[in-house]
Amino acid sequence: MKAVKRVIALVLAVVLCIAFAACGTTTNNTSSSATGSQESKKATSDAAEAKPTNGKLVMATNASFPPYEYYENETIVGIDAEVAALIADKLGMELEIKDMEFGSIIGAVQTGSVDMGMAGMTVTEDRLVTVDFSDTYATAVQVVIVKEGSEIQSVDDLTGKKIGVQENTTGDIYASEDFGEENIKRYSKGNDAVAALAAGIIDAVIIDNEPAKSYVAANDGLAILETSYADEEYAIAISKENTELKEKINKALGELKADGTLDSIIKKYIPEE
Ligand code: GLN
Repeated sequence: MKAVKRVIALVLAVVLCIAFAACGTTTNNTSSSATGSQESKKATSDAAEAKPTNGKLVMATNASFPPYEYYENETIVGIDAEVAALIADKLGMELEIKDMEFGSIIGAVQTGSVDMGMAGMTVTEDRLVTVDFSDTYATAVQVVIVKEGSEIQSVDDLTGKKIGVQENTTGDIYASEDFGEENIKRYSKGNDAVAALAAGIIDAVIIDNEPAKSYVAANDGLAILETSYADEEYAIAISKENTELKEKINKALGELKADGTLDSIIKKYIPEE
């Protein structure tokens, strides 16, 4: 009997210890509480703890968005991939990149299946309802791609035209509002929208300026309109529950900005014209 009691006492002690550790470490980041709470993502304060200390920083992206993220052979490279690797480094973590549809990224961040979304993602009021964003790290412009010699010469000329967009992006959201759902054709990749434009299926594509430049360079007979459509800022999407990770990412980003690293990565991929 004594042995049984001792076992019960030991089990009780362990349970109490775990309970105490779980309640007592909302700000301290100990690896023991991290591994212990990996399974129970519902315990929100624990989930916020667990993510940044499991050794891996999992980033969701959509790797068809040059020069921010794209494949070079089997590897995802680009501005976001490089910056994310440096952030992971500063956090003492290993970066893992998951490639998915752009429209799935916010959900993946929200449910905690990834730690962050970095995909040339624009900060918008609507997205801020479901996720948080880091400080911004780049500016961008939504531009209009047309066929060379097109009668479309400005954003106003888009009225009544067939406009291709990448599904769920800001180009899609704004163009649907401004020009009517019925005039929008959605593609899962920007490249597919541009191919449809080149084939004469649609009249224009609205997309971020940097991928636009690289798509136009890769396809003969296309041009970017001089008047732009919208100005935006990119940031990293992080779960609202993971404020600790957000702070760490902001600190790392701040350092990369301050010492010129961010600028030199951007310049490497976007040489000044
Ligand atoms: N910047 C746009 C957005 O956030 C497009 C991003 C992308 O296609 N990767 O919606």
